[in-house]
Amino acid sequence: MKLSEIKTSTPEETKQLGEKLATLLIPGDVICLNGDLGAGKTAFSQGVARGLGVSGAVTSPTFTLINEYEGRLPLYHFDVYRLSGPEDMEDLGYEDYFYGQGVCLIEWAEKVKEVLPRELLNINLFRESNAESVRNICFEPVGKRYQQLVEELKKLVCSRN
Ligand code: ADP
Ligand code: MG
Repeated sequence: MKLSEIKTSTPEETKQLGEKLATLLIPGDVICLNGDLGAGKTAFSQGVARGLGVSGAVTSPTFTLINEYEGRLPLYHFDVYRLSGPEDMEDLGYEDYFYGQGVCLIEWAEKVKEVLPRELLNINLFRESNAESVRNICFEPVGKRYQQLVEELKKLVCSRN
């Protein structure tokens, strides 16, 4: 099975993939989520939160820009769709999050690519045009840490659970 692309058929499957990834995350990890509205970025994020042991509802930070949660590690969940550019990220104090001790999940990350760290994991979600609930989820690691992370995820996904 090729891991760089995984297909899911339900929102729950997408969450389970996020949950698996969460078990492998360490302080300082930056995960970038890209894909159209309704692609499943928030669903995936909810799975990551579940995997980190966050209790309570995880909602889209569309209007708040960032939501913080306490789990096994702190989780910083961004949605930068409404930002006009990287200067808005300065106002948000993004560096404390990106280079801190928690995990960053950034929906629409490509909108602020100028301020993203050099190494990160890109996850691109695509809706399949002829199947309403099928999503193609592509992993693109940048840097050694994230290449290893994707390798570990591959083992997890290929194992029975
Ligand atoms: P985004 O954050 O990318 O805008 P959301 O996660 O908020 O997307 O919404 C995804 C929508 O697509 C939800 O309504 C969800 O129920 C639906 N959906 C259908 N199939 C899937 C799937 N395989 N994975 C994720 N979401 C799916
Ligand atoms: Mg969203």
